[in-house]
Amino acid sequence: MIPAQFDYKVPKTLDEAVALLASDLDGAKVLAGGHSLIPAMKLRLAQPQLLIDIARIPSLAYIREEGNQILIGATTTHYQLESSQLLQNICPLLPDCARSIGDVQVRNKGTIGGSLAHSDPAGDWPAAILALDGELICVGPNGERTVKAENFFIDLLTTDLQPGEILREIRINKPGGKFGQAYQKVPHPASGFAVVGIAVHLVLDGSGACQAAGVGVTGVGVKAYRAKGVESGLVGTSLDDNALASAVTHVCDGIDPNTDLYASSEYRCHLAQVHARRAIQAAKARVQ
Ligand SMILES: Cc1cc2nc3c(=O)[nH]c(=O)nc-3n(C[C@H](O)[C@H](O)[C@H](O)COP(=O)(O)OP(=O)(O)OC[C@H]3O[C@@H](n4cnc5c(N)ncnc54)[C@H](O)[C@@H]3O)c2cc1C
Repeated sequence: MIPAQFDYKVPKTLDEAVALLASDLDGAKVLAGGHSLIPAMKLRLAQPQLLIDIARIPSLAYIREEGNQILIGATTTHYQLESSQLLQNICPLLPDCARSIGDVQVRNKGTIGGSLAHSDPAGDWPAAILALDGELICVGPNGERTVKAENFFIDLLTTDLQPGEILREIRINKPGGKFGQAYQKVPHPASGFAVVGIAVHLVLDGSGACQAAGVGVTGVGVKAYRAKGVESGLVGTSLDDNALASAVTHVCDGIDPNTDLYASSEYRCHLAQVHARRAIQAAKARVQ
């Protein structure tokens, strides 16, 4: 299908983009990689009057270390994250997650900020950023604010971004000590999106016991979430088989799992348990 008519503007700076967005809060939309927004426009599920193309603002795409944090610009593409040697060395969950997204064309255009702002219930990035306890920097007409990933995803395709705000940056605390990470995904055979996706970040103490755990889940509910019951079931254990078997039973706690033609809620929850266990085992095996 052909989208409804729209205007298109290419700001040179983020300030210009914020001002453009503020000038038409009802009709304007930010365009990043366009790999969720353009299909929605073609289906006429979205009919913005103005597209503000932030993907051409060069200063918004970067991956860098600053102090004890990793900073990622919102328009950094999935491919840039997948192929980052820096991330491979210091936070391999991010390239792992990026690698699982769509195909090479999608990864070349789609951006991490677009994916987080879109909050697709089957999107991969929300699970990883939740597991890493990340922070999102949002900028709007009233300045900048920091939102914890845990508080960012509100509902189906709904985030804490306020009218006029643009997601500028994602911040992750640099993993330290003995840690291991993994992303396990059951891709839908037709779309490639996650039927279930589980991101795990584990920190072990000197004796090999689990000191901290982050478990992010996508595909199961209307929005991605942290499986806190699994996390608390792991902390303090030696991550032995019994501890894992017991912890993963909590992966759907408090969630009403999605049902569709491909997976009933019971099957989806079963997949979530199986793949949570595999992701934890894989993360444990990668402890460095
Ligand atoms: C064939 C195909 C397969 C795919 N497979 C997968 C997959 O396996 N896993 C997966 O996770 N995703 C998948 N995707 C989605 C893809 O990752 C998208 O790139 C992503 O969801 C949206 O990012 P984008 O940069 O394209 O955003 P856009 O489509 O440009 O924007 C999406 C929404 O976010 C808003 N937005 C974008 N950037 C910002 C920002 N910085 N601040 C505020 N609002 C913003 C836009 O206004 C829009 O509402 C697939 C897409 C396609 C077409």
